[in-house]
Amino acid sequence: MSSTFSDTHDDQNIEESQEIKRGRKESHVWDHFFKESLGRGHYSAKCNYCTQKWSRGRPEILKTHLALYCQEIPLSVKSEYMELLATGSTAANRKQKTNTDSSAEIDINRKDKIDQALIRFFVCCGIPFSTVNHPYFMDFVQSLCFGYNPPKNDALSTTILNKEITIVLKSIQENLKYEENLTLGNIF
Ligand SMILES: [Zn+2]
Repeated sequence: MSSTFSDTHDDQNIEESQEIKRGRKESHVWDHFFKESLGRGHYSAKCNYCTQKWSRGRPEILKTHLALYCQEIPLSVKSEYMELLATGSTAANRKQKTNTDSSAEIDINRKDKIDQALIRFFVCCGIPFSTVNHPYFMDFVQSLCFGYNPPKNDALSTTILNKEITIVLKSIQENLKYEENLTLGNIF
């Protein structure tokens, strides 16, 4: 009886510590923003480095601002958030439709790979993002891989696109790092 109690207690501790860890990870991004409470755990945000404001700050949007769009951010902070955006899973942030059928679910890493191939195809071939939720497109994709649910149009054009932009920028930086005698010029 006492061991049952202690097991339950341990589980509770693990859950609590996970909760704290998750909380810390989320709040870490807020170190770079001035926030004012809107109630119910929501906050307005103002960037500490530039003049950008959000009436409601969402961690995903704030992370993207730090990684890609802030013009005044210190390079070390920018690099940290670029790394986070490039390596973080986008699939984990999305709600899955097929929770009931776990056998058909595909691995998160595989989902990220497919998402990446999808965004490259959409951007490089100039396909409108709205196509991703067209029933015929869904049908086509799921005939190839039943366990894969294409992302929603807004996730494709924000989270997944931003992740791919970060990966491309990081790869350009990586290539330029070892080049010597670089010059800037216009090509006419
Ligand atoms: Zn900023």
